[in-house]
Amino acid sequence: MPDRDVRSWTMLISGLIQVGSCRMALDIFVEMHKEGAVPNKFTFSSVFKCCSRLNEFRMGKSVHGWIVCNAVFVDTALENSVLDFYVKCGSFSSAKRFFELMGDKDIVSWNIVINAYIQTCDMETALGLFRRLPVKDVSSWNTIIDGHLRNDYHGIAMELLYEMVKGGFALSKETFSIALGLAASLTALDFGKQIHGHLLRSGLHFDGFVRNSLIDLYSKCGKMEKALFFYKTFRKYDTSDGCSDNNNESLDDSFSQSSMVTGYIQNGKLQEALKIFSTMVTERFEVDKFTLTSIVTGCANAGLLELGQLIHAQIVKAGQPFDVFLSSSMIDMYAKCGKLDDAWSIFRETIVRNTVLWTSMISSYGLHGRGREAIQIFNWMLTEGIRPNEISFVGLLTACSHAGLLNEGMYYFMVMKEEYGIKPQVEHFTCMVDLFGRAGRLDEIKDFISKNKISHLAAVWKSFLSSCRIHKNIEMARWVSTKLFELEPPTAGSYILLSNTCASGDKWDDVAQVRGLMKEMGVKKHPGQSWIQLKNQVHSFVMGDRSHPEEAAIYSYLDELIRRLKEIGYSTEAGIVMQDVEEEQKELLIGFHSEKLAIAYALMNTSTKSPIRIMKNLRVCTDCHSFMKYTSLLLNRELVVRDLRRFHHFKHGDCSCGDYW
Ligand code: ZN
Ligand code: ZN
Repeated sequence: MPDRDVRSWTMLISGLIQVGSCRMALDIFVEMHKEGAVPNKFTFSSVFKCCSRLNEFRMGKSVHGWIVCNAVFVDTALENSVLDFYVKCGSFSSAKRFFELMGDKDIVSWNIVINAYIQTCDMETALGLFRRLPVKDVSSWNTIIDGHLRNDYHGIAMELLYEMVKGGFALSKETFSIALGLAASLTALDFGKQIHGHLLRSGLHFDGFVRNSLIDLYSKCGKMEKALFFYKTFRKYDTSDGCSDNNNESLDDSFSQSSMVTGYIQNGKLQEALKIFSTMVTERFEVDKFTLTSIVTGCANAGLLELGQLIHAQIVKAGQPFDVFLSSSMIDMYAKCGKLDDAWSIFRETIVRNTVLWTSMISSYGLHGRGREAIQIFNWMLTEGIRPNEISFVGLLTACSHAGLLNEGMYYFMVMKEEYGIKPQVEHFTCMVDLFGRAGRLDEIKDFISKNKISHLAAVWKSFLSSCRIHKNIEMARWVSTKLFELEPPTAGSYILLSNTCASGDKWDDVAQVRGLMKEMGVKKHPGQSWIQLKNQVHSFVMGDRSHPEEAAIYSYLDELIRRLKEIGYSTEAGIVMQDVEEEQKELLIGFHSEKLAIAYALMNTSTKSPIRIMKNLRVCTDCHSFMKYTSLLLNRELVVRDLRRFHHFKHGDCSCGDYW
């Protein structure tokens, strides 16, 4: 009874796959073949699944060859397994060839191959195929929109989403989650609210997956009360339904808790962050590593050294072992909080060092403008036999850019493409544009953009625009801004950059025009905010803020300091900064930029000669930069400022950035 034999062989094989023993399943298949049993389409489909999971390209390919030679009847489902196998093993060319030759393509085949093009970042072809798709289902829409989102084509993702809605497709929970993710990554609150409205009508808002996207959206947009509201209602809903003990629920729950904690951290509400973190620790025997990692990352981004140290201590106390991801987020945290030495000790203490860990160390040195050391660590990593990935190169190129190492940057960009076969992504391109910009080679940026076909990437144009600002090239800045505004809904950042460029060339009419445009488009400027930690407490300052209890003292201290600084050569550079005020008030208000308030407060409240560490949510302006240089000289005090992009170490009247940032 050969037929029954085949069935039992096949059942054995698929059973082994289910328990995760793909290697054994393949051995059984080979044995089955030796014994002369002829596999059926189910056997084949299982075998292809094993081959793709084990990345057994040769075996899968020879099984496919055997099927063709023996004229085995192949239906669309089996053809899809073959297609899926080629894609998952990364053999995109075979997959594409096979797809073109397929007789009956169903929607699954189309989705597989569209996904293949998305994975190779060939969005043009992916979109072309999507357009050719005779019948589109929700999952094909999700695939194409998510693909554009992940590859930073936010504009197209948005258009596709509108098209999908207009076409009357019923949105799935995945669609909602993608749409909310799109809104969160653009911090487009109004758009997010529209999605939320649809969501309420669809009744899908109780889903854990969607709920987390909502919490994430509102916390990224700074609406913590709203995020907290969903967090609380859904938690209530979870506990009252009495069956929240399955794994998915608790995973969702810890995800939403960590979204809340990181949201609070991003919005500077540390007490609240700590409160939820403590709830997590008490409610759960062990906070999972994913959550810890994301919280530590939150501390890193907000530059909250003491909170980070507290969490570090809690992890050690709970006996939680450090895996490589937790270690690297700790390295990142210490580096971003200005403690490069502590980052280095975590690195030394971690026994198993993989690419992720080395990359954290390279990026850390880059962040501190220590480019040559970052290159040394990179080379050390290579001698240890660790292969760099695309993120290692982001770290390395950023390091080159922050230290102005143009030749080295160009060399490693080439090495990345040619030696390691890594296709450059938006971050790599942006670093290169920064590098050229720093060297003042603005025309070369134009060539670089057209040669690499990257004119669709808004980030690249933004970086170009800021190079125009530094080199005060207004003509070029204008041209770059038109390109930029074609691509994405204007953000406050890009307007301010343009406005600052105009301001630096004394084009005040243009500044007014840009400001008018900002109002018209409803662009809101993020208020500049700086914060410091003194004795376990965070003090934050907003530009022109007069709400601090010690306000009068701070302002008179600052006035006196500025007077003394002017005696040794400091002058306020009124032209550089954009303010939402009339021109005659400009100089006065520049005196009160948030970082100056923070520095004054720190100087007043610390007696030792230890460095003052300040975090700032925007880039430091030219005036404040010069203010800090003179302060470090006058008071012989080290100032460490982390702005949106990098660290500035001010010492004896100089800054580590070499005045380029
Ligand atoms: Zn300033
Ligand atoms: Zn600097």
